[in-house]
Amino acid sequence: MAFLADALSRVKPSATIAVAQKARELKAQGRDVIGLGAGEPDFDTPDNIKQAAIEAIGRGETKYTPVSGIPELRKAIAAKFERENGLAYDWQQTIVGTGGKQILFNALMATLNPGDEVVIPAPYWVSYPDMVAICGGTPVFVETRLEDNFKLSAEALEAVITPKTKWLIFNSPSNPSGAAYSHEELKALTDVLMRHEKVWVLSDDMYEHLTYGEFKFVTPVEVEPKLYDRTLTMNGVSKAYAMTGWRIGYAGGPLELVKAMDKIQGQQTSGACSIAQWAAVEALNGTQEFIPTNKEVFQRRRDLVVSMLNQAKGITCPTPEGAFYVYPSCAGLMGKAAPSGKVMETDEDFVTELLEAEGVAVVHGSAFGLGPNFRISYATSEELLEEACKRIQRFCGNCT
Ligand code: PLP
Repeated sequence: MAFLADALSRVKPSATIAVAQKARELKAQGRDVIGLGAGEPDFDTPDNIKQAAIEAIGRGETKYTPVSGIPELRKAIAAKFERENGLAYDWQQTIVGTGGKQILFNALMATLNPGDEVVIPAPYWVSYPDMVAICGGTPVFVETRLEDNFKLSAEALEAVITPKTKWLIFNSPSNPSGAAYSHEELKALTDVLMRHEKVWVLSDDMYEHLTYGEFKFVTPVEVEPKLYDRTLTMNGVSKAYAMTGWRIGYAGGPLELVKAMDKIQGQQTSGACSIAQWAAVEALNGTQEFIPTNKEVFQRRRDLVVSMLNQAKGITCPTPEGAFYVYPSCAGLMGKAAPSGKVMETDEDFVTELLEAEGVAVVHGSAFGLGPNFRISYATSEELLEEACKRIQRFCGNCT
């Protein structure tokens, strides 16, 4: 349609939403469908956080807030960065947005000029390339390998940086692979960045609190403090505190960048919801006991899913360190016939046939820029996960 903006042609519809829609259609037809596509915890927001929101409404905290967020929340964010990450951000160097998504968007909007390149390791969270493209930049993908547990190597990063590179988007633990970088692994990357002074780092730490076993989360500036002046450290309450619907994300970074993001936000939303901001103050300053309890549940689910998937014929599933996703390879099934008789050539064929044959909805890896793989979200009950994995095993066993 001629009326629509050219920029729209650079945006792809979300594959994760398309899978959810297909699963809903099958359910409406009476099929028994298990959806493993959701990118949100299946727990409810803790009561202390809900209560803080109710009290905020009672106090009349129902008006516009400062564009970058209420000082109470920005101070809680600065304290969180200090306490959990050893990062010293003055509260004025922090900004609150309507979800982590808006923080990323505004950072890109505030910095990208046409032709600027943004390095995105693949597999990547579906929104990064589209956000970069909408903001006029050029996404530059760098593939990781299953053998490296989907982690970017120093050599691969070095090879992809050009004089036009403006940002590296770094996401650990990763959506969709669950891969999280240890101190040593991240140091190898920050060493490369130290040789490229013009490259900034957008660190998406959204899944910080979801790492398992002995794994210790680290963020780029913690590993290389010299990157402080060219890193935006982004995080949010969505995943750690089961608050996806409250829409609160935040970041800390150089003052000039934060002010530029404030300028955009001032003409865009005027700031995040006042009530949700008060809830987020409680999330960050209140009890944190919810986090280890959740981690235990997620770790049990991860171990169950990884073990059962590795028993499915043709599937290889590495054990990720974090988030609530696994990203198995279905390469062993390519060229094989599904029970319907259809020969599967791509991971999209695999997920379509799996949904048709067994009613298990997962997302194809090519949507995340690396295949043939698929993403499973294990943010659902162990009972459903076990049943879904049994169905995947049966499906794979029936492929010839
Ligand atoms: N970053 C990653 C890697 C995500 O997976 C998500 C949500 O799925 C976000 C950012 C955005 O989170 P929010 O819901 O706070 O906008």
